[in-house]
Amino acid sequence: MANEANNFAELVSHCKEYGYIFQSSEIYDGLAAVYDYGQNGAQLKKNIRDEWWKSMTQLHENIVGIDAAIFMHPTTWKASGHVDNFSDPMIDNKDSKKRYRVDHLIEGFADELKAKGEKEAKEADEILAAMDALLAKDDYAGLKKLIEDNKITCSVSKTCNWTDVRLFNLMFKTEFGAVAAENPDENIVYLRPETAQGIFVNFLNVQKTGRMKIPFGIAQTGKAFRNEIVARQFIFRMREFEQMEMQFFVRPGTQMDWYNYWKEERKKWHESIGIPAGKLRYHNHVKLAHYADAALDIEFEFPFGWKELEGIHSRTDFDLKQHQEYSKKKIQYFDNDLKEDGKPYGNYTPYVVETSVGLDRLFLTILSLAYAEEKWTKEDGSEDSRVVLRIPAKIAPTKLAILPLVKKDGLPEIAKELMNQCKTAFHCFYEEKDAIGKRYRRMDAIGTPFCVTIDHQTKEDNTVTIRYRDSMQQERVTLDEVKNLVQKNIS
Ligand code: ATP
Repeated sequence: MANEANNFAELVSHCKEYGYIFQSSEIYDGLAAVYDYGQNGAQLKKNIRDEWWKSMTQLHENIVGIDAAIFMHPTTWKASGHVDNFSDPMIDNKDSKKRYRVDHLIEGFADELKAKGEKEAKEADEILAAMDALLAKDDYAGLKKLIEDNKITCSVSKTCNWTDVRLFNLMFKTEFGAVAAENPDENIVYLRPETAQGIFVNFLNVQKTGRMKIPFGIAQTGKAFRNEIVARQFIFRMREFEQMEMQFFVRPGTQMDWYNYWKEERKKWHESIGIPAGKLRYHNHVKLAHYADAALDIEFEFPFGWKELEGIHSRTDFDLKQHQEYSKKKIQYFDNDLKEDGKPYGNYTPYVVETSVGLDRLFLTILSLAYAEEKWTKEDGSEDSRVVLRIPAKIAPTKLAILPLVKKDGLPEIAKELMNQCKTAFHCFYEEKDAIGKRYRRMDAIGTPFCVTIDHQTKEDNTVTIRYRDSMQQERVTLDEVKNLVQKNIS
């Protein structure tokens, strides 16, 4: 197809126009970095979540899924280290009062440099390497000096008048219960900043009730909340988002083998849902989180650059040991299979390899790959164009549009009958308004992979026209074939 364009700003407005994503509370001018999913977005998001859930819990015999609550006992977050450590280094511009995450401020500056030319790109790499080294040492004075030495300015005030670098905790706090406590701190609960802790505190419940044997995994999808400072790039960085996480519990000493296994597995899974291998890459962490002995990101080339899509972390036995210490409950595994001198090895605290992907980021990945503005010359020499979402058929929100050519002559009745036949198997959409060409374009824009048109010939020979979104090819098939044909293409 000639003249394909892929424009991020266009994609954002397309998402709104076609019921994928709306700004939260838009009628009140919105809430920053919070978004609502519309009728098509909610269905696409559910389809992606279902694919992940199936790949984890159905295709792996040793992974089970849970659904833990968002609210957790506040000690959970003391034990996990989030109360003391879940902070990002921030810096404020004294003139505009605008606050920046230090790494984002420097990365933004480096991106601008890179766009200028080869010499500047080398300079940008040096600045980024210096930033990584300073972050690894928690050298906040050094980071401020790096910003000042490079005369990095605020995008609002355009000045280089910065405060010191400070740490800012990202967790949202709220009050729990109706009765005021004597000590107000007693009522504080947090909105979970990650879903993982709900898995750790349920480790023994699941292991014992499910009679799970190591190695095994616990998967979970759900909302997480972070008071992000730089919240931009649409649904890439939100304050309320959804994670799909799996904690894989392994014998101590085997964690690097499993880390390498999941690193490969997860990249393959992304490819299996239609992300080209060339758009994915690994990025090893330089500065490891307090709980990790190895960590990497799987990055995707978003329209605004290479960014983290999923994190793979070897979390050691940190979390389970911390919860054991804070709860004073023994959290260990008795390994009957591992023998030493012919006897069971005994109890140990399992090590954990985590895979953690943002559902909203994956949604954005899929839409940014799918969105295309296409122009071509028709046989008669005239120009034509369309906007199409080439979402893989198996996750597209609507699979089949059923379109009677006209609203009369018994065609809607045949269409409704087909709808009743198909709707128990997959998601269909019925539309009888507008000219057929206009209806096809609308289905292209929504990303519906198949359209079926019922016309007068249908009444004579029971055949319909099926139109394929990606190729725009049309062919005649019998009414009876439609359901199987779609099912074959979406399975
Ligand atoms: P970043 O460096 O981009 O802030 P992170 O390293 O803090 O991300 P993790 O804590 O590893 O992210 O979370 C796992 C996944 O959750 C990320 O790979 C990402 O897909 C998703 N995620 C994290 N924060 C957000 C957010 N604010 N909005 C949307 N998705 C997020």
